[in-house]
Amino acid sequence: MSQISAERNVKLFTPGPVNIPDRVHVAALLGSYHHRTAEFSAVLMDTLEKLAPLFGTAQQVMPVHTTGRGALEGVYRNIFTSDDRVLCCTNGKFGEMAASTLKRCGIPVKEIFPGWDTPVDLEALEKEIVEYSATGLVAVFNDTSNGIVNPIDKMGELSRKHGLLFAVDDVSALACMPFHMDEWKVDAVVTASQKGLMSPVGVSFAALSDRAWKACELNPVRDFYTDFIAIRKILAEKGETPGSTPVSLVMSVHEALNMIYEEGIENVFLRHKAISAGTKAAMEALGFSLYPLEWEQRSDSLTVAKVPAGISAKALSKKMVADYRLKFGTGLGDMGNEYIRIAHMGYCYAEDMLQCISAIECCLDEMGISHPFGKGTEAFINAYKKTKSEGTA
Ligand SMILES: *Cc1c(COP(=O)(O)O)cnc(C)c1O
Repeated sequence: MSQISAERNVKLFTPGPVNIPDRVHVAALLGSYHHRTAEFSAVLMDTLEKLAPLFGTAQQVMPVHTTGRGALEGVYRNIFTSDDRVLCCTNGKFGEMAASTLKRCGIPVKEIFPGWDTPVDLEALEKEIVEYSATGLVAVFNDTSNGIVNPIDKMGELSRKHGLLFAVDDVSALACMPFHMDEWKVDAVVTASQKGLMSPVGVSFAALSDRAWKACELNPVRDFYTDFIAIRKILAEKGETPGSTPVSLVMSVHEALNMIYEEGIENVFLRHKAISAGTKAAMEALGFSLYPLEWEQRSDSLTVAKVPAGISAKALSKKMVADYRLKFGTGLGDMGNEYIRIAHMGYCYAEDMLQCISAIECCLDEMGISHPFGKGTEAFINAYKKTKSEGTA
């Protein structure tokens, strides 16, 4: 039986993976180099160079041959040991995942700001740092479960003041929202291929500060597979990676970066900001309530919204796929049937969101919640245009 479906693709509004542009698919097919060749090395090194401004760093960005979770675990195993004491912000599912990962690595960890409604309180954080005699801090920049954005800049300031190593998961916002690793005093940052970098799943990227590199060098139980010292060495000497490089994935990410640079990094950020503002306005107009509650904590790469009373999030999601071939995420864990998660990350433009919002209007109507048609799209257009014009003013 052929595994290639005759039906047209389902368009993705899921918070990873995201839709892949044709150019990115084609790049993977055309670049079937051996991984130890000058041709491929040139592409690899150019990819890493183009990633550095998105990380906001002058450090060497490194490829890690694994999905995001593997690279995150790799970072923890490289920069921390069982002698560390790490505070981990668990105000979202991916923050909780970070704490579980640290524990599994045998790294002492204390969970702080647990619960999905808990913003990071800087005064309380400083108190925790002192009381726990912390040596490390781990947080998610943009938690893809609840759309909370944590104040990484201020957390970086505090962790540097107290001599902590600060590791940040930027998997779901890199190339969607500005990140300034060096300026924000972050010691380790990780991203993966299938979100803002609009490529297939399977390769990740990480960058470390000088302090984090020192911790790696001193760590006697560094991981083997994601040994950053080994990756850095062979990159510097040969422009290669340890083991077989996922060439086609790197080719894809390289082409995605070409697209990002053609549009202009600042324009890419503004596009995300504007489609996010539009989507959030549309959802409110259609009777959804936005999450998180405070504006300044809200993500630009996804919209998390509680469905109107009487509607099941899972039923709405199912209907969107069945009737319109558009797929968004529903809530994670206990929030599964109450929340939807609409991603607008990576290869996503105003016309895609207009399509998604009109389809939601149609589904709601058929599910018994009627609004004048166009109520959501009108709200989108107004907020989108306003944000766009403020950004270019
Ligand atoms: C998607 C995601 C991950 C997980 O990455 P995988 O590539 O699925 O292993 C980690 N953190 C955040 C915030 C994510 O959104």
